[in-house]
Amino acid sequence: MRHFSHSKKVEHLQQQLRTFFEQNKSKESSFVALEDRLRHSNTTRTKSYKQSAARLDFTSLDCIVEIDTKKRIALVEPRVTVQELTQATLSHGFIAPIVPEFKGITVGGAIMGGAAESSSHRWGGFNDICSAYEILCGNGDLLRVSPQEHSDLFYGIAGSYGSFGALVLAEIQLVPAKEFVHLRYHFFPDPLEALSFIQQLAQMENPPDFLDGIIFSKDRAVIIEGTIQSKEHPLPCFSPQPLHSEWYYQHVNNISTRSHIYEEVMTLYDYLFRYDQGAFWMGAYLFHFPLLARFIGQGILNIWHPEESFSAEEVQRFHQVPIPNVVGRTLFHPFLTSKSLWKLLHKAEKWVQERIIIQDFCIPEMHAARFLQDILEDPGTFPMWLCPIKGTKQPQIFAPHLLPTKDSFKHFINFGIYGLPSYYTSIAKITKQLEAKAKNMGGRKVLYSRSYYTPDEFWNIYSRPAYEVLRAKTSANGIWHEITAKVLSE
Ligand SMILES: Cc1cc2nc3c(=O)[nH]c(=O)nc-3n(C[C@H](O)[C@H](O)[C@H](O)COP(=O)(O)OP(=O)(O)OC[C@H]3O[C@@H](n4cnc5c(N)ncnc54)[C@H](O)[C@@H]3O)c2cc1C
Repeated sequence: MRHFSHSKKVEHLQQQLRTFFEQNKSKESSFVALEDRLRHSNTTRTKSYKQSAARLDFTSLDCIVEIDTKKRIALVEPRVTVQELTQATLSHGFIAPIVPEFKGITVGGAIMGGAAESSSHRWGGFNDICSAYEILCGNGDLLRVSPQEHSDLFYGIAGSYGSFGALVLAEIQLVPAKEFVHLRYHFFPDPLEALSFIQQLAQMENPPDFLDGIIFSKDRAVIIEGTIQSKEHPLPCFSPQPLHSEWYYQHVNNISTRSHIYEEVMTLYDYLFRYDQGAFWMGAYLFHFPLLARFIGQGILNIWHPEESFSAEEVQRFHQVPIPNVVGRTLFHPFLTSKSLWKLLHKAEKWVQERIIIQDFCIPEMHAARFLQDILEDPGTFPMWLCPIKGTKQPQIFAPHLLPTKDSFKHFINFGIYGLPSYYTSIAKITKQLEAKAKNMGGRKVLYSRSYYTPDEFWNIYSRPAYEVLRAKTSANGIWHEITAKVLSE
């Protein structure tokens, strides 16, 4: 039974939508965009499509309606963050099998944006751990969707960026949690060897609970496997929580010069959000002071107008990620969480887009080595993140990890490319090349960041007929923006 106050909130939204829907019949259509007054999006592309849209305020949909430990499910409203969800489920001894790494990612954003993490080699995407949703259609109707009810919509909605309807409730599966994660770090002088190793681990019959990797340079890569366990080992324990602590990628970088396996433990909570402080390594760029000055003067305040993009000399200077020192990390700790960093980024989205690559590409495992070989040279952005993802054969129109019906492979490798290229050219040009390369290899990108496809190129990748069937089913036309209006926005 749905929680009383949840039902009241949804009824209120339904009324507003019905009014919009009726008004749209008598005049030119006006789109509706969801608004959250309290949280900052982890999606880096601009939100220019929202400018003329009416707003539907979703801020209040931020409650965990129920945690049922017998059925092992949580009923969750969409604006609950993964941090709030994890804190609540951990107090019952459970976690969601996939917890995206930034604390402020919301359940709605993770489902609509195709989120994944280091347990994705076992579970797939965040939507793959959900067993039902409640969706508000454009005409105000409420639909419950699951593998048994409106299954086409249940699968199709993942990664659709809200273009079929507004998610108002998600039923999320839970698994038992333990207090610690035992981590084993494997070091490689050749990133291709590291890739082959992570692929072998992902394919094992009993793979580790967690699996990801960081490529620091053309001759240094680390693969990290994690196993949930209850007792603290007599091993070193790393926590990114103390103000002065190294950021996780720095910590891994420091131990990566070893030649033997390194082992340590982290608490499960610290492990799940290990990349939050510094947002992987993105926050470190602010320690290039000339870059910071440019970002503030040109990007945020718009009072300084040097050359539009970085010059060749600046690219050379800024390409190497600086190492934030202990004083900087300690003094600026609260400003370097992912939430604070995204708040800054949204003040200058276009400025960032034109200078820094923030992209994730999901490549079929048999082509991953070729893709890696190419990107080690061009764009040559380091560090680089590796994360294997179990593919899906369900009809998930926009899933980055959608398996072709005929092929028999199981995993994709997600390549996270976050930073500056190694040479001087436009970020648009590099991204277009990467988009084309991924497509030629049967891969897809995660659509949270800037895409350069034309609409025709986009619909060459994703099935438009299947999309339109679902848009009609949810009375979305004229109310919810089409996906291309969102993901191709400049
Ligand atoms: C550097 C970087 C690295 C990243 N790495 C990863 C990664 O490793 N793994 C990963 O999973 N993700 C990663 N992301 C992306 C992130 O997971 C997605 O951007 C995610 O969708 C953001 O969640 P959010 O809660 O901020 O969503 P929002 O930005 O708030 O929303 C995303 C979209 O979903 C729609 N939406 C949100 N809520 C609803 C709802 N209730 N109903 C209908 N539509 C809704 C919004 O309209 C919007 O179009 C990364 C992002 C960055 C910047």
